Amino acid sequence: MEAVFDRLIQLQDLDKKIKEISLFLDNIPSRLHTIDAKIKESEQIVDSAKSELTHNQKIRRNLEADTQDVKERQKKYKSQLNSVKTNLEYSTLLKEIDDVQKKIDAVEEQIITEMLSADDLEEAIQTAERKAEVIRDEVSREKDAIIRDKEARETKKAALLEKRNTLVPQIPAGLMTQYSALSGKLFGIALSPIIDEFCAMCYMRIRPQMLNEIRAEKEVILCENCGRILYFERSAAK
Ligand SMILES: [Zn+2]
Repeated sequence: MEAVFDRLIQLQDLDKKIKEISLFLDNIPSRLHTIDAKIKESEQIVDSAKSELTHNQKIRRNLEADTQDVKERQKKYKSQLNSVKTNLEYSTLLKEIDDVQKKIDAVEEQIITEMLSADDLEEAIQTAERKAEVIRDEVSREKDAIIRDKEARETKKAALLEKRNTLVPQIPAGLMTQYSALSGKLFGIALSPIIDEFCAMCYMRIRPQMLNEIRAEKEVILCENCGRILYFERSAAK
């Protein structure tokens, strides 16, 4: 029975390691997703700066079309100056021309403002593009490292599973069934070592008579509190 306990302990150890690796592997897709989101975010900043510039250019084109119209009107008024008959008509026309000029000046000032903000936007696009490039590089390195790590852990997991497959047939079937049931029920931990007369998993004090029986390893003894198979660690006094 002692050898059987050795195997059970070995099995528990393998299962713990396998579980740990599996949890790590399960987490990889979400880690990859998170770093992909970093790229997306940086690209969105570039896109939004670009669409702001497009909007700015549209405003400028509209303003330029506006001044063109107003300038045409001014030209018309100026040509009418030669054909006016009265002083009143003349001064009215001059005022019109002056008003139109004010409008032209205002629109041209707006155009200059838009041109200046276009410069800022172009700079913002370049900055965002450089940043996105840096992030793409970083993420690509990060991803490579994750993939390499993933492969190494998958190899390790496969080796552990192989060991497990060799070990399981060496454990009596009934005990194996009991182990699996306990493991399924108790978060993958079916065995608990005794440390200083306590169950290491639930901290329940074990009765002296039980301690003797556990030490003898003649049969499987379960913790009265957590239900795990109790054993003395191999290095401990036995
Ligand atoms: Zn316990």
